[in-house]
Amino acid sequence: MLVYNSQTHKKEELEPIEPGKIRMYVCGPTVYDQIHIGNARTFLAFDVIRRYLMYKGYQVTFAQNLTDVDDKIINRANEEGRTAAEVAEECSAAFIEQMHRFGVLDPDIRPRATREIEAMQEMISLLIERGHAYAVPSGDVYFSVRSDHSYGILSGRDLDQLRAGERVEVNDEKRDPFDFALWKAAKPGEPSWPSPWGDGRPGWHTECCAMIHRYLGTPIDIHGGGADLVFPHHENETAQAMCAWDAALANTWMHTGMLRVDGEKMSKSLGNFYTLKEVLDQYPADAVRLLMLQTHYRAPLDFSFDRLDGVRGTLERLQTCVRNLRWAADRAPQDGELNDADRTLGRAIDAAREEFCRQMDDDFNTAGGLAAIFSLVTACNTYLAEAADDTSTAVCLRAADMLCELAGVMGITLSRSAGDDDLPAGLVDLAREHAGYEGDSAADAAEALLAARQAARAEKNWGVADAIRDGITALGLVVEDTAAGARLHRKE
Ligand code: AMP
Ligand code: ZN
Repeated sequence: MLVYNSQTHKKEELEPIEPGKIRMYVCGPTVYDQIHIGNARTFLAFDVIRRYLMYKGYQVTFAQNLTDVDDKIINRANEEGRTAAEVAEECSAAFIEQMHRFGVLDPDIRPRATREIEAMQEMISLLIERGHAYAVPSGDVYFSVRSDHSYGILSGRDLDQLRAGERVEVNDEKRDPFDFALWKAAKPGEPSWPSPWGDGRPGWHTECCAMIHRYLGTPIDIHGGGADLVFPHHENETAQAMCAWDAALANTWMHTGMLRVDGEKMSKSLGNFYTLKEVLDQYPADAVRLLMLQTHYRAPLDFSFDRLDGVRGTLERLQTCVRNLRWAADRAPQDGELNDADRTLGRAIDAAREEFCRQMDDDFNTAGGLAAIFSLVTACNTYLAEAADDTSTAVCLRAADMLCELAGVMGITLSRSAGDDDLPAGLVDLAREHAGYEGDSAADAAEALLAARQAARAEKNWGVADAIRDGITALGLVVEDTAAGARLHRKE
């Protein structure tokens, strides 16, 4: 399996540090507002990367932080007369809610920066002890980029070039303009923690690095984020790890291309952004996923509502095909001998899976993976049209299962067990009670219940999670947790 490493600029064979296991970390959001769909593109890309690694049988440990102390959070809190903790808490909850709606799996570990201050201070002390950092009279602590001979290793930038070319904040206390703050002295009205260098708060680059070391150990297999994080954030993260623990932070660095509107990067500062929430209020999550996954994760992604409208039809083609296959399976003679058409579709099913993996093994080529899924859709539609009343139950079910399986790796949930016709109508009432569901489709109610159960479990809200499971059981269904997410099926 080949993965592009942005440090070496090459596709490399993925070789886990521990056989069969992958430890990965993706920088999480700064929680000061709703995230925009550019952020969501990056989180989605790594969701699918993680799902595919799990599909290939790796035991994946996935960590993602919440940056819950930062200038932007403090500014917003001051504007609104609230505490930074209140703003961060509200925005963290909103982020998690939107990720659930988008079908992004919860990380195994979700550290919050404000609860990891001790680990950060330990790392800073070690860096000072080893001569890679210094405290200044104001109470700040800086990392000394000059002390790190490999500084620039990730981004390929060299310090002299940087000094000549880029503007940096002027600060008399720094020994080098590119020295960055590991610890920032407290200013009045800001959240702060006591430290050997005086009250203050950690710098952003310090947070991720200390949390990775604490929860996953260093080096990890994969470190990810958007391409805009390569410099300085990831460069500074890896510099700290090298200097504190003599270890690279990650073996493979993966970076996503930027989502753009009208050729420009989507960002809060440019004001050209749509929040994930407003997009998911108007379009099904799976359509947004499908649109984003049609572009390779490293390439820039051009977003437009026209494209999103167009992709809805594509998603429906997939859903309709699975529904038709199940319908045909129910009505086909159970034990018919396989004929030529059945065997042809059987081969197309195997070929689709093989092609899907071939594409995804090549640096997670989701566009190629989707093409493999849709070539199977075409083969199924041909089969259903030509075989008419003479379909094979076994082959129809196998085709439907394969489509669900492969779409599931992309995080696209096709109701695996049955369409509306076959699911108990009681699901709708259950979803109204527990999942805030307002529609009347049993299949949609099933999805809403599974999402609500996942959310409840993530929040350790066992009462709600159990009530949902018990309600589902009472309807004669069971919840099965699979690598591709939870699904419902009938009790055997
Ligand atoms: P932030 O909260 O700004 O640190 O961003 C969270 C994540 O979203 C980071 O991994 C960023 O690299 C990523 N990101 C920000 N803007 C975009 C964009 N327009 N397209 C893709 N990813 C982005
Ligand atoms: Zn980070």
